[in-house]
Amino acid sequence: MNAFMPRIEISLDQIRHNAEILSTLYGHQGISLMGVSKATLGEPSIAEAMIQGGVKFIADSRLENIQKMKNAGVSTQFVLLRTALSQAETVIKNVDISLNTELETVRELSHYAKVHGTVHQIILMVELGDLREGILPRDLPQFISTTLDLTHIKIIGIGCNLACYGGIKPDHQKMNELSRLADAIEKEFKIKLDIISGGNSANYEWYESAQNVGRINNLRLGESILLGCETVNRQAIPGLHTSAFHLIAEVIESKSKPSLPYGESCQTAFGKIPTFCDRGIHLRVILALGRQDILVSGLRPHNNLEILGASSDHVVLDSENYDLQVGSEVMFDLDYGGLLSAMTSPFIKKKFLGVAQVP
Ligand SMILES: *Cc1c(COP(=O)(O)O)cnc(C)c1O
Repeated sequence: MNAFMPRIEISLDQIRHNAEILSTLYGHQGISLMGVSKATLGEPSIAEAMIQGGVKFIADSRLENIQKMKNAGVSTQFVLLRTALSQAETVIKNVDISLNTELETVRELSHYAKVHGTVHQIILMVELGDLREGILPRDLPQFISTTLDLTHIKIIGIGCNLACYGGIKPDHQKMNELSRLADAIEKEFKIKLDIISGGNSANYEWYESAQNVGRINNLRLGESILLGCETVNRQAIPGLHTSAFHLIAEVIESKSKPSLPYGESCQTAFGKIPTFCDRGIHLRVILALGRQDILVSGLRPHNNLEILGASSDHVVLDSENYDLQVGSEVMFDLDYGGLLSAMTSPFIKKKFLGVAQVP
């Protein structure tokens, strides 16, 4: 009996390989990488694999994840992707660099940096139309001139984030705009911006078609390192591994049953009135896995298996084309949502393959 179920199997070698290929690719035009660890819950061995692959920073949205990596001995420059006013002191104590968009928060960071005798580095995120985080370009000069008066804050760069909330593409126009803003800021304030961070895994298409990347010299990559794809069309990036993560769950029931539920219809456990298509009698299996473990829509089954539905603790699969016995294992690839939920679930065991040891 294998008690390690459900489990996620993680190939550290494949993650390191992906980081290496991407570091080399983007390095050709002077772009450094931040490896984004948030989808892995700040798993230290995964961060280490990214570092071995050549990323220059590890970026995460959660202080808890950064603390976990530091405690495990991961040694790099850490970047906090999302900064909250109430966490200012913890940010100062734990992180070298944070992304920011609010003056009140930056003032608080400066205050605690002074208390702790340090200078905190910030990257200002600029709004370019995706409408998640970002200072509006017209407000940047005022923001910067106020920040330059703060004694314990250093502005080391600007950045933008696209293709997240609003689904807006990081194209040449957006990247040129960020480059122009960088030039204008340096000229107006006579400062040097070291980091111009153009975006995330959605920037691949732009990069591949760019003759000239302008001032862009950094990207923050999570999904393309972990899952080997870009995120505008979710296409695999040539040379990268696309299944460094596998989810494995156990079959707990395997029977031929009708494909249409019978009796009077009512709501399901999740408040929906479901509809079904009648395929006649089909083989189906139930897995010891459910919505409490994983975002079921993020599972990509192998072997012609089809996900029919799921409740809190059960996933039902049509197994007509692939006979599965009770106790056997079923393997899935994961998309980003599946990966995020699997890594976050306390019920899913993490099994590492490969050798990216934290020193
Ligand atoms: C999550 C995140 C990223 C990484 O995005 P991917 O699509 O996984 O590459 C980059 N930047 C910010 C600000 C983020 O929050």
